[in-house]
Amino acid sequence: MTICTVDLGDTELLRYSRHILLDEFGTGAQEQFARARALVVGMGGLGAPAAQFLVAAGVGAVTLCDDDDVDLTNLQRQILYATSDVGARKVDAAARRLAAVNPTVRIDTISTRVDAEALVPLVQAADVVLDCCDNFATRHAVNAACVRGGRPLVSGAAVRFDGQVAVFDPRDPASPCYHCLFGDGEEVEETRCATMGVFAPLVGIVGAIQAAEALRLIAGVGEPLTRRLLLIDTLTMRFRELAVPRDPACPVCSGRDRPHRESR
Ligand SMILES: [Zn+2]
Repeated sequence: MTICTVDLGDTELLRYSRHILLDEFGTGAQEQFARARALVVGMGGLGAPAAQFLVAAGVGAVTLCDDDDVDLTNLQRQILYATSDVGARKVDAAARRLAAVNPTVRIDTISTRVDAEALVPLVQAADVVLDCCDNFATRHAVNAACVRGGRPLVSGAAVRFDGQVAVFDPRDPASPCYHCLFGDGEEVEETRCATMGVFAPLVGIVGAIQAAEALRLIAGVGEPLTRRLLLIDTLTMRFRELAVPRDPACPVCSGRDRPHRESR
């Protein structure tokens, strides 16, 4: 964990002026951004735009996880990457681009697929976790690590024209975890997703919403997307939300009656 000393100089005040001008943010939120670390799991269609906004907004440290290389089929929607990046590690290409956007942000990269064990210290080092991955095994592992570490999880998904976003916050006793909503047995659906198309702007919409939730969680501003599942239909451009309760029998979070935050 890097301890960031926060001293917003003239350049920073200018760079972040459009956030500082927001009454809800001001310099206080900007200093909180600078002190924060975000963990982004998956640097595809969702993680790329989410990371772009976090870095541009001055989140002090961002950890990027992805074991994939940039593929030609990614470029239709993963607009962080250039044609010249095809074949490169996604985290390397992303780190280069993001460093150019904002060289003051510390960017750490992990180019292996993170399993449950590897996720624990990564999650505990983070203030907020963004699940931008494309497989249920990782989603469940990220969720379990967030419940264990007491860290808020911003979960996003996108396939075809349909997107979903929700925040699972173990610090909120009424908040469900990912497993409360999506138990085991989703693998059949996952197999089908691998062969489905995805509408390019949808991933930008979902990733941007994830960044918005992460920034507001860091700053403690507004009403987070907890206890709600936001459903986005970009074929009709309708947004709706479902109330999502906690499952008292959930095997992942049911023992979590007293949220705690393990030390870093
Ligand atoms: Zn649960």
